[in-house]
Amino acid sequence: MSAKPDTAVSSKFRGKALLTAVSALLVIILLAIAVRKNPAPENSIPVQTAFPVMGTIGRVAIYAGEKELTTATDIYRREFDAVSAVFSLRDQESELFRLNSSAAEKPFPCSETMWFLLMRAKQAYEETAGAFDITVKPLMDLWGFYQQKKRTDPPSAAEIAAVLEKTGFDKLQFNEAEKTVFFTVPGMALDFGGIAKGYAADRAAQAVSAAGITAGVIDIGGNLRMLPDAPGGKEGFIVAIRDPKDRNSVLPETLTVKPAMAVSTSGNYERFIELNGKKYSHIISPATGYPAEISAVTVVAPTALDADIFSTACVAGGEKTAELLRQKYPELQIYFMR
Ligand code: AMP
Ligand code: MG
Repeated sequence: MSAKPDTAVSSKFRGKALLTAVSALLVIILLAIAVRKNPAPENSIPVQTAFPVMGTIGRVAIYAGEKELTTATDIYRREFDAVSAVFSLRDQESELFRLNSSAAEKPFPCSETMWFLLMRAKQAYEETAGAFDITVKPLMDLWGFYQQKKRTDPPSAAEIAAVLEKTGFDKLQFNEAEKTVFFTVPGMALDFGGIAKGYAADRAAQAVSAAGITAGVIDIGGNLRMLPDAPGGKEGFIVAIRDPKDRNSVLPETLTVKPAMAVSTSGNYERFIELNGKKYSHIISPATGYPAEISAVTVVAPTALDADIFSTACVAGGEKTAELLRQKYPELQIYFMR
């Protein structure tokens, strides 16, 4: 793959994306139609199921029978439950809930899973020059994204400035030998909402493949991980983009995604708040404390974890962040919707 999106599909998509005045309701949906390399496709229609998971919609689509679909769905739910038990902000029993409640008092000893994602988030903070920052939680609270406080007006500049004192990855203290994290400022809190779904999609895809189900797609709320095999005679999957102007149809341009790759879309298409009649994205620019202005970004990457991180980061940090990422990871495909 080259540094710039260079396939016919990509450039068509990009051209359209730039022309499209996207304001809302942009989301990747999975058609899970295999791209035909040969005519006379056999087994080219996947069996699929969708269900609520982690506050969003989960989907499994596989090129196999109903029995395998049940097996794959059970595995998927098991993996997502395991990830939720660590990273859920709603569940008061979760490890993250305990971390956020106590890490300002004393260093919090992390599980392997927590430590793994915390270290990946640290790397992401560094490689995006701070655009991806899981310490934004106090800002998410201030803006009212978790709906504890229903606000009608945006917060004032003074309120934002005060809360910015409690954000910033550089205010976390790590002990690598002990695998602990400490909040150097009281009131800090972590939010893995921009990274945990991709991580979960990778885990589920790996576990489903290990069970011998190797062709299909795992999707959690727009974080898609392709299983390692394309169905016989195919070279990849077509991923369609929901038409931002019409929820019930898709754009004519599509992305072709190779087996084992991942796609993620971030943006204000479905999750936003409305204050004084203006829509605000649930992705915060950590530098300013204000919600990001970009409508949506789609990223194709080798893992759902990376696609999830980078799509959120590019909404938060814009083209500047995308350029940093393209330099470091030339194989990434990044598409902005405006
Ligand atoms: P996603 O849907 O993957 O783009 O993630 C959006 C979620 O990531 C938000 O709902 C927040 O939980 C969290 N978030 C918001 N702003 C940022 C940011 N700048 N860096 C990392 N996570 C963020
Ligand atoms: Mg994300």
